[in-house]
Amino acid sequence: MVDQPGVGANSDAAHDVLRRVFGYDSFRGLQADIVGQVVSGGDALVLMPTGGGKSLCYQIPSLVRPGVGVVISPLIALMQDQVDALNALGVRAGFLNSTQYPDERRTVEAQFVAGELDLLYLAPERLRIDSTLQLLDKGKVAVFAIDEAHCVSQWGHDFRPDYLALSVLHERWPDVPRIALTATATEATRKEIAERLDLTGAEHYVASFDRPNIQYRIEPKNKPDQQLLNFIRTEYPGEAGIVYCLTRNSVERTAEFLSRNGVEAVPYHAGLDARTRATNQARFLREDGLVVVATIAFGMGIDKPDVRFVAHLDLPKSVEGYYQETGRAGRDGLPSTAWMVYGLNDVVQQRKLIDNSEGDAAHRRQLQLHLDAMLALCETVQCRRTQLLAYFGQSGEPCGNCDTCLNPPESWDGTVAAQKVLSAVWRLKHERGQSFGSLHITDILIGKSNPKVLQHNHNELKVFGVGNDLRDTEWRGVIRQLLAQGLLAVHGEYGVLTLTEASREVLRSGRTVMLRREPERVKPAKAPRAKGSRLAAADLSPADADLFERLRAWRASVAKEQGVPAYVVFHDATLREIAARKPADLAQLGAISGIGENKRAKYGEGVLEVVTAGGGGAAENGPASAGRATAAQPAVAPAADHEPPPDWDFEPPPDDGY
Ligand code: ADP
Ligand code: ZN
Repeated sequence: MVDQPGVGANSDAAHDVLRRVFGYDSFRGLQADIVGQVVSGGDALVLMPTGGGKSLCYQIPSLVRPGVGVVISPLIALMQDQVDALNALGVRAGFLNSTQYPDERRTVEAQFVAGELDLLYLAPERLRIDSTLQLLDKGKVAVFAIDEAHCVSQWGHDFRPDYLALSVLHERWPDVPRIALTATATEATRKEIAERLDLTGAEHYVASFDRPNIQYRIEPKNKPDQQLLNFIRTEYPGEAGIVYCLTRNSVERTAEFLSRNGVEAVPYHAGLDARTRATNQARFLREDGLVVVATIAFGMGIDKPDVRFVAHLDLPKSVEGYYQETGRAGRDGLPSTAWMVYGLNDVVQQRKLIDNSEGDAAHRRQLQLHLDAMLALCETVQCRRTQLLAYFGQSGEPCGNCDTCLNPPESWDGTVAAQKVLSAVWRLKHERGQSFGSLHITDILIGKSNPKVLQHNHNELKVFGVGNDLRDTEWRGVIRQLLAQGLLAVHGEYGVLTLTEASREVLRSGRTVMLRREPERVKPAKAPRAKGSRLAAADLSPADADLFERLRAWRASVAKEQGVPAYVVFHDATLREIAARKPADLAQLGAISGIGENKRAKYGEGVLEVVTAGGGGAAENGPASAGRATAAQPAVAPAADHEPPPDWDFEPPPDDGY
């Protein structure tokens, strides 16, 4: 924090809370500045990536300023967990939402009025109710925090009409500082938030959107289920992860496939009934090492810190979506992977979705631009991270921790190959008046005399067999890249290929087409260790790793007993540090990051017992595998969960086309 005259005392108070309550030594990145601004009564608009540490930015001002911090959050189903996590730190927190019984609500209201709370979580719709506004008048509000502030944006898929009414905060309580926070990175959304929430005069804080501990990888899609299974088995067995699929059907199929093959997985999509959704979400949060397979309906506000991987089996619609979804990995700063498989079919499917989408031409054009940026990220031979950050207007050096940095793909001059594909499409159209999908075009190029080829006499075409220098998978790669580069178009129910304006340049004027060579086999790329960073804790000796597992087992049983997610007790990063440093007493334990006074008092003895038991004498703690917490019932009645973003089921394009 910049030490301006007059804020020194505030700064001391903020640091004191950081150390005592949260057990952290220092603020991270922009946190100190933001906390300083809000503590001294100013407004702030904060754009920080998931895992960047947004919560402290409003929690600490709530504790330092007189009064109660009021947090507006759309995530009703997660409020109980948020409150539990704060209570574990010794912070007095409560929530008001529609899932409570009237007398529970009255208790919280009375606590608020009496100033017996540090933080109060509210669903945005509460602020439309007069009685809530009157309640807030009766107590003292320290700060208003508007979490997930991008929900005010009518263009995003998280739009909540109730957010539009939040301008009442400023009108009714002009002297209470406001802080709005989001992980949405685009300039346009930031402007919209500032305008709609009346925060144009606020200080804006835009953090770096880089997530150095996430390794980005995009591989060619062959047998997606099997590829996913291999990825999980070899790199993250027994770890928590999220797998995103496009359709509800593929969600269910994939969850079943993983479970059948020994990876415990549950489905989540908007077509499941509310109770199943809430149960599966609660299991994911509470258990160690569960995989959730989901549509994009899952994820906002999931603050589980130890999600080790996010996998995409289908192409996201935009870079922004990809970034949000992958950002759910590794909030704890430990090495994590964003893994995706991608193939020709994805391009065809997405183009088809756009063709069939509702809305005018301008809207479709917008969707097309989003998709093009996503395809460019998939096809790049440059550093993925640099390209991702460039999309959000930030620059960076090649990262050394993405697949293209670790195994630089070659590019090759694919002009002749492109001409072969394009002339096959052209000849079919002009000589026969026909259009076909990529599968048939490939068969013609490699000269396959299959029944369909013979039936149409396509073996008589001049292009028949001109492409036997490449294998069919390679031709699919060529066609996919031509589609991604706009040198070929795809249409209709059967995914037929047609030429574009730009195709002409390749066919007639010899425009050069550079293509990416598909790696033969993608080596699992291990994350390099970031020097001197928090990631260092990930390197444990076998003995320390054993202790870490015993600590995890201890944590699982404590969490189960108390009915809270394991990470509410301690984060993995904290347990790893304990395993590495082996504190001998409470004082040494308190020096470990993430152990504040309350947690030390509450769990310190238990942790020290596990540490000193060491040397194989810890039978009472059970083997690591026995520590799995069982499914807990969701703490909040699921029916009132927010309605997730729209979700759909559609028929995948018929096989014929590709
Ligand atoms: P966000 O809400 O931005 O996604 P969180 O507030 O959940 O991020 O913080 C992400 C993780 O980083 C949490 O595990 C949190 O405890 C930890 N963290 C936040 N600030 C600090 C800090 N100053 N020092 C150490 N850890 C921190
Ligand atoms: Zn890179």
